[in-house]
Amino acid sequence: MTSLPSGANRTELRKIGIMGGTFDPIHFGHLLAAEESRSALGLDEVIFIPSGDPAHKRQRRVASPEDRYIMTLLTTLGNRNFTPSRIEIDRKEPSHTVDTLREMRHWYAPEKVLFYFITGLDAVLGITTWKEYEALPELCRIVAVSRPGYPSQELGNLPENIQKAIIPLSIPLLSISSTEIRQRLHNGRSVKYLLPETVEQYIRKKKLYRKKLEDTIP
Ligand code: ATP
Ligand code: MG
Repeated sequence: MTSLPSGANRTELRKIGIMGGTFDPIHFGHLLAAEESRSALGLDEVIFIPSGDPAHKRQRRVASPEDRYIMTLLTTLGNRNFTPSRIEIDRKEPSHTVDTLREMRHWYAPEKVLFYFITGLDAVLGITTWKEYEALPELCRIVAVSRPGYPSQELGNLPENIQKAIIPLSIPLLSISSTEIRQRLHNGRSVKYLLPETVEQYIRKKKLYRKKLEDTIP
């Protein structure tokens, strides 16, 4: 058989993971979820998308979109399969997954790309509260990664069309959350080994997360 000319596989279907989050701050739980999904599902790339104005987190202050983007950028620098995206932080309107996926669809030809939206079990179990959640299965597969405290059996309670789009994925459980990291920083406790060192350096340089946690948006 004649071998294919170089570049011939460019027409192959690309599998792109999308890791959305507030990333306030980004930590090793996010990175492990992305890397495990990439290797288990053979994804070509994982795009990290920090939310602009997190629709569901307006009741508390979050670090600025720019700071959360920079921390995401610093974190993804060392992995050639990870890319940060400004798509949500540059949007004026509140962030909704469905809008982001539609915009991504607009940029990538549908016949060339399959999107995999990567999310922890805690988040996916609340999917019926997301804007136009019924439309998500047409736009992507949903990778539901395990997270301590959230039993995967509960996926069975979700609407059938959503369940069909879900790929459950067991990953090593890391009991790390941004909430815990913010609390530790506020209380002057160590956050070493919970998040990348460069992110910790950035947080300390910019004096992030020092204020009272209960600070709410007026
Ligand atoms: P917060 O405590 O502020 O809610 P978080 O740690 O949950 O922060 P998010 O930015 O809310 O982080 O999460 C983004 C995505 O990453 C969500 O889908 C969430 O379920 C997933 N995720 C976060 N931490 C983990 C973890 N330790 N293991 C698996 N998935 C995680
Ligand atoms: Mg969360």
